[in-house]
Amino acid sequence: MLDEKLEPIFADVLRRNPGEDEFHQAVREVLDCIGAVIAKNPDYAEGALIERICEPERQIIFRVPWVDDKGNVQINRGFRVQFNSALGPYKGGLRFHPTVLLGTVKFLGFEQVFKNALTGMPIGGGKGGSDFDPKGRSEGEIMRFCQSFMTELFRHLGEHTDVPAGDIGVGQREVGFMFGQYKRMTNRYESGVLTGKGLMWGGSRVRTEATGYGAVYFVERMLRTRNQEFEGKRVIVSGSGNVAVYTIEKVHQLGGRVIACSDSDGYVVEEAGHGIDLPLLKEIKEKKRGRIADYAKARGAGAIYVPGGRIWDVPADIAMPSATQNELTGHDARTLIKNGVMAVGEGANMPCTPEAVRAFLDAGVLFAPGKAANAGGVATSALEMQQNASRDSWSFEATEKRLATIMHGIHDRCAEMAETYGSPGNYVLGANVAGFIRVAEAMRSLGVV
Ligand code: GLU
Repeated sequence: MLDEKLEPIFADVLRRNPGEDEFHQAVREVLDCIGAVIAKNPDYAEGALIERICEPERQIIFRVPWVDDKGNVQINRGFRVQFNSALGPYKGGLRFHPTVLLGTVKFLGFEQVFKNALTGMPIGGGKGGSDFDPKGRSEGEIMRFCQSFMTELFRHLGEHTDVPAGDIGVGQREVGFMFGQYKRMTNRYESGVLTGKGLMWGGSRVRTEATGYGAVYFVERMLRTRNQEFEGKRVIVSGSGNVAVYTIEKVHQLGGRVIACSDSDGYVVEEAGHGIDLPLLKEIKEKKRGRIADYAKARGAGAIYVPGGRIWDVPADIAMPSATQNELTGHDARTLIKNGVMAVGEGANMPCTPEAVRAFLDAGVLFAPGKAANAGGVATSALEMQQNASRDSWSFEATEKRLATIMHGIHDRCAEMAETYGSPGNYVLGANVAGFIRVAEAMRSLGVV
């Protein structure tokens, strides 16, 4: 399947990045898609351009020492992978989760390069994070960790250099603690150095909602190509973090019914009424930092909690995997297809395994890959940077309108590229080709750097 020019390049990626399965998976998907581009335009394979795209510009790994509430010294590992800056300063979130390894950050950074290119905005790609586990930690511990993390990271950042934001385990609270430490260490109120900030201190309206809202806008546009809409559809959304919550909100606004969501312990199904009770879910997840089991308990008889189960067993018209990478397997995909799923939209980064993606495409299910469908978050981060640069702040309506226009633009670009390269309706191909061409064009213009 891999183009013969790309085979040795991929073999080299495997050899030079041992054990980094997720990174291999992300690179493989892009290389699988760009064979046709290289065939049409061999210039893109000149000057080791593809090899350069697969090699991060800079990888930073550092020790993060901090003191817990009992007075014990804790050690975590911090990462920032500055992957590609051909289109603009490195841009991408920070993930705090115990499973984070260098390979995880590299896969996310690689995806980010193409995602950011797809938005059409002037941002390069990067990603960072730590194996720190925020679960069960007090606010004081979270703050001390964030301060220690930024004490090293600050020297690598800047509004024209590298602009982090949130991801799993990093929300407005953590961005606040990191921004505070950056401000203290640099003695600069440099708003544009981080995005996902609070509205009172340089944040943008709609940034909180953007990833979930954007994913729904993308899927809505995709459904329209088959004269379908969210109205009246049964939808399942995995996860219950920032992406999931605002996916549910937008689906409800468009008349769809979200009947299930989940966390790493299990899932909840609610068939009655409007499905998931969003105000209650927000209260439990955002305010109380509780679990789906707590939500189910609070809902009582109407909600069925399934500990440890697979949310993909729930029959639905539309599935929005919005939790984490490789959460939806080939087996899950076949179950969804058997139950009649018509569309799948990836709110998370790479939530479907390659086998699952193949199964959806083969079955003719509309499939929106994460690097296109979840680009609304980072696109709104770029809008936040614009507002910071002009010391301005836009209304909710104006910002949401920009987000919708951007998502529709991404959809249409992917659809057009899929058609140009002979696979109409294949958004995986469309997204990878469209993202790749933008990055490759810029890199060629900038010479060997
Ligand atoms: N972490 C988000 C993503 O995966 C957002 C990044 C950002 O806003 O910079 O795209």
